[in-house]
Formats: sequence, C-alpha cells, structure tokens
Amino acid sequence: MVDLKEIIKKFSEEYKLELYDNYQIEVTDISEYVKGDDTEYYYKRKEIIDQAMGLLYENSNGNIVVLVRKQDCVNFISSLIHEYVHLCDYNKLSNYRNDLDYRRLQEDFVFLFWTEFHATYLTYRYLINFNPAGLDVKNIQNEIVSDLIDYYSSSPKLDRHELMDKTVRSYGSYLALYDEFVQKVTLHPKHYYFNGQFLKLYKFLENKKTFEDFIVRFDDFKGLLLEI
Ligand SMILES: [Zn+2]
Repeated sequence: MVDLKEIIKKFSEEYKLELYDNYQIEVTDISEYVKGDDTEYYYKRKEIIDQAMGLLYENSNGNIVVLVRKQDCVNFISSLIHEYVHLCDYNKLSNYRNDLDYRRLQEDFVFLFWTEFHATYLTYRYLINFNPAGLDVKNIQNEIVSDLIDYYSSSPKLDRHELMDKTVRSYGSYLALYDEFVQKVTLHPKHYYFNGQFLKLYKFLENKKTFEDFIVRFDDFKGLLLEI
C-alpha cells in the first residue's frame, strides 16, 4: 500500500501548502461511513454524500477525517489531494475565525464556493503535471468551456447551488490550465460566462488562488455571490 500521507507531503511541497497532520485518512464507502457515524447528519446531506468521491468530514468524536472512496488510481489520487486542499483551507479558516467547529465552518456557503474553486484549481494543476507534454491544450480548453455552456443550457431552471458549484469548479480547472500554459490558453474565452456577473466572479477568482489573498476580500466575494 502506498503511503498516502507521503503523496500529500510531496503535493504540499510542490504547491506551497502547509503540511498538516491533524487528520486521518479512511479509504471507504463514504455513505456507509457517515451513516454509521452520524445518521442524522447523513440523511440531511444524503444527496451530496452519496455522490461524493471524497469528503472532508468531522466525525462525531470531533476528529477530522479525509474520506476517499475506492476508485481508479488517477481519480483516487485526485480526490485525496482535493480533500487535502479543503483541509488546509478549513484549518486556516478555523485559525482565522478562532472556531474549532468544522461542521459549522463548512456551512459557510461563501467559503465553500471559494474552497471548491481552490481545491479544483490545485488538483488540476497537479494532474496536468503528471504529463504536461502529452496534453492537447487547445482541445482541453474548448472542452472545459463547452462543458460549462452545455450545462447552463441543459435546463431552463438550474439549481442555484449546483450552478455555482459547477461554475467555480470549471473556473478552477480553466485557470489551472491557463497558469500551466499561459502561451497557449486565452485568459478570457468568449461565451464562457453565464452573464456579466459571472465574468466578474471569474475575474475575482483570477487572483484569489491562496487563502491569504482570498480571506481579506471575503466580503467582496460574498457580494458577488449574492448578486447572482
Ligand atoms: Zn470539494
């Protein structure tokens, strides 16, 4: 068995994240794990938990657990890294707000959408660097854009939370691709934004790729989200 914390250590060094050790990793069926630990919590968030490939979870003993479902190797590592970025972000938020209740911290929707952006951004950069030379950059760029556009037009009445979630993740992947291949990727692709408000959101995220840069502009991000 590979040492999962060793993978995380290398990742943290490469992307300049703090190396924390206040958590455990469980490779498991996430739904069963949460249901067994806290049934009420599970049923309140069943929909999200059932489709999660990874989850940062404060269990009923107050321990922080990175839960990862068994899946193919690349997706497994991605999920692990992604949840570790969430851990770093919530550790910093916990410090910043002087609040040790991670479940409460995780209810803050403003922070949630930022950390989702951040985790997707760093995970995507990490994945790109497995094999940067083998990537068809133009093709991936077009795919990220058209996937989001297709989603926007998939229904006249999209769920607001899902819409935001898909949007910030897409922006995270796109900006990762941009940062890795500045010469080949357009920073502001046409027809990528749901409307002008989303372009503002994208421009905001462009230079909020660390907790420190983001947290001092937290209220601006909240304002942008509330206007949507
Ligand atoms: Zn996430």
